[in-house]
Amino acid sequence: MKEKAFSDFQKIGKGAWAGCATDEDWGNWHWQMRNQIRSSEDLAKHLTLTPNEQAGLEMTKTKLKLGVTPYFFNLIDTQNPECPLRRQVIPSKEECLVSLGETEDPCGEESYHVVSGLVHRYPDRVLWLLTDRCASYCRYCTRSRIVGGTGGLAFETDTEKVIAYLKAHEGVRDVLLSGGDPLLLSDEKLEHILESLRVIKHIEIVRIGTRVPIFIPQRITPALVARLKRHHPLFMSVHVNHPSELTAESRAALEMLADAGIPLGSQSVLLKGVNETHDDMGCLMRKLLRCRVRPYYLYQCDWIHGSAHFRVPVERGVDIIRSLRGFTTGYAVPQYVVDALGGGGKIPLNPNYVLEHGEKHWVFKNFDGKKYFYPGE
Ligand SMILES: *Cc1c(COP(=O)(O)O)cnc(C)c1O
Repeated sequence: MKEKAFSDFQKIGKGAWAGCATDEDWGNWHWQMRNQIRSSEDLAKHLTLTPNEQAGLEMTKTKLKLGVTPYFFNLIDTQNPECPLRRQVIPSKEECLVSLGETEDPCGEESYHVVSGLVHRYPDRVLWLLTDRCASYCRYCTRSRIVGGTGGLAFETDTEKVIAYLKAHEGVRDVLLSGGDPLLLSDEKLEHILESLRVIKHIEIVRIGTRVPIFIPQRITPALVARLKRHHPLFMSVHVNHPSELTAESRAALEMLADAGIPLGSQSVLLKGVNETHDDMGCLMRKLLRCRVRPYYLYQCDWIHGSAHFRVPVERGVDIIRSLRGFTTGYAVPQYVVDALGGGGKIPLNPNYVLEHGEKHWVFKNFDGKKYFYPGE
């Protein structure tokens, strides 16, 4: 029943902005950014805030800032305080409670910062944080220490220093651009970065991590796509958490990227009250495939300050994978990963299909629980 409601690609209209935005405004990403909802006063014009949200907004003024594009705001069910999209971008009181084990930098990225903005944790690839801005701010952001300009750390990167580092490190063959959202840079700036990377012969692939096709699909313009496709092999990882984030508009943006030959993968964060049911997650993964996005990672929610109300037990993530594997298209099954506390990196977790094994035999369980004997050699 529920799956039916979310499986359509709904077209998102101008909604409350119908009177003040022309179609041209609405379709213009600069307009969307200029009109980003940034204050509780702005928000209250469009939404009756719950006491919990009101308290959250008050208390988060000095923490991760509020920011929602008008487009994404229109996806929110304003009548439903439990709306899974609302929960992701509107602060709540719980965000201000720090639980035991939560830190400002749960993935330990700061300890792998080699030059400003560059995180080099794995042997052959690096993470380059290009900006601290996002089109909308996710309340569970693992980088809230730097994102949005209100966290504890000032954002910094120096393109020349990063490029010099990459030139000097021939073992790096993969550069992942993230932030903040790299697609909020101007076309020119982005192209300059891609061109600088492409001069370095040992860099084989470049990836962009983004939530732009979901928060501000207007940003995916033919001009941008034409520039991006000049720098292949270029991959993109799109952050998507709930099936209703995939609208007619975001699908059109994703299709433009796919048509330009950019392999698309998804990253989702497992979040309580957002996507922790088997139905919602299954629906999300199948909808992604229909947009030519191959599910890539499902993340356990990081132990960032004030995230306890979003976290579900690790076993739940494994359970979700178990509910997908074998029951639906293999392409629709992401890898569930937990980022180890303190900088250990991503740890893959999988359901166990091995019941026992000896030197010459294995006993497996298949997807629907039947037992199978298998020779050991
Ligand atoms: C996630 C991550 C990567 C990319 O990891 P893949 O498993 O290759 O997608 C690279 N560097 C850092 C620091 C990361 O956190």
